[in-house]
Amino acid sequence: MRPSKQKSRSLRRVFRKTPGGVTKVAYAHRNPSKAHCAQCHSELVGMKRLRPFRLSNVSKSQRRPNRPFGGVLCSSCVRKVFVGRVRSGV
Ligand SMILES: [Zn+2]
Repeated sequence: MRPSKQKSRSLRRVFRKTPGGVTKVAYAHRNPSKAHCAQCHSELVGMKRLRPFRLSNVSKSQRRPNRPFGGVLCSSCVRKVFVGRVRSGV
């Protein structure tokens, strides 16, 4: 093990089997924390917890809910926005 970077637990340890059959330790970044609503800060549902370069391999519908404010606001906050728009007549 190298001294500084790989000793830290900010990188997670992954056991990978090499083609020669030897199991070696690889170091991988941890997944980011869950996405939160911009208004009420509750955890968003239906959002993939992956680093951006891994998200590019995931379909768009798996990245965020397919609705207005999907991936930004939670469902109850979106509902409040819509009700407010209807009531104000916009
Ligand atoms: Zn919310």
